[in-house]
Amino acid sequence: MNINSAIIQGEKVLKDNFIDNAHLDSEILMAKAIDKDRKYILLNSNRNINTKDLNSFQKLIKKRSLGKPVAYLTNKKFFWNSEFIVSKETLIPRPDTELVIEQVLKLTTHKKKLNILEIGIGSGCILLSILRERKNFYGTGIDISKSCLNISKLNAIKLKVSSKLKLYKSNVDKFTLGKYDLIISNPPYIKNYKLKYLEKDVAEFEPKLALDGGIDGLSEIRKVVKKSSELIKKSGKFVLEIGFDQKNKVTNLLKEEGFYINSINKDLANKDRCIVCTKI
Ligand code: GLN
Repeated sequence: MNINSAIIQGEKVLKDNFIDNAHLDSEILMAKAIDKDRKYILLNSNRNINTKDLNSFQKLIKKRSLGKPVAYLTNKKFFWNSEFIVSKETLIPRPDTELVIEQVLKLTTHKKKLNILEIGIGSGCILLSILRERKNFYGTGIDISKSCLNISKLNAIKLKVSSKLKLYKSNVDKFTLGKYDLIISNPPYIKNYKLKYLEKDVAEFEPKLALDGGIDGLSEIRKVVKKSSELIKKSGKFVLEIGFDQKNKVTNLLKEEGFYINSINKDLANKDRCIVCTKI
């Protein structure tokens, strides 16, 4: 069988299992199975595929048809300007989160040197993208998950920013090290009882630790806001990703902790997603 027919077969299996973007997913999984990039696939679609590769392709298609996200099958995801390594312990980087990067870059166009803290670094996609964009910025990332820190470390090496990054395994409450010019965070903010109603790919495969915001969705945000207010320098900026319906509650929390709200920014779906504020 040639590559193209196998892809079409895979696409059909995915479609029968109600997977969106079936053709694209099938192509990406073929690239993974034969260890080539998508360009190779497109240019060599008439080549034959050997039995071993076909078997591993079909296994990947089977897993995808059960809902496992492509990023967890390929262990990579493109975000901002780079490809990141991901694992089932890290949340998959979302295009909406690129809003945090945009805001940080806007805020820091004239800054030469900056000390940044990220609370809940996950795969590292936010902090490392910023460190890649700004040569003299230094980053500290904390996470409660050791596996996430390991992935962040690998990504930092891959993106050649590891000399500017320190990582600590810590709970947000317990971390007391340093003072920062800028703090960023995309904490878990989904209401606990809503987790099971998220898309199947998310609900069944992504880490609850990165999504579960407690009964009201704000339990981690509260800790992050409080900790940021302690660790931020006066006049320092705080950029926080929030749920689409959390604007009012979170701005109140921020004001209580001495932050001035600069802007609330909308994501690609026109939902409130990212707050920029200043410690006064
Ligand atoms: N935006 C993510 C989602 O909808 C949630 C990320 C988070 O809780 N920080 O799946």
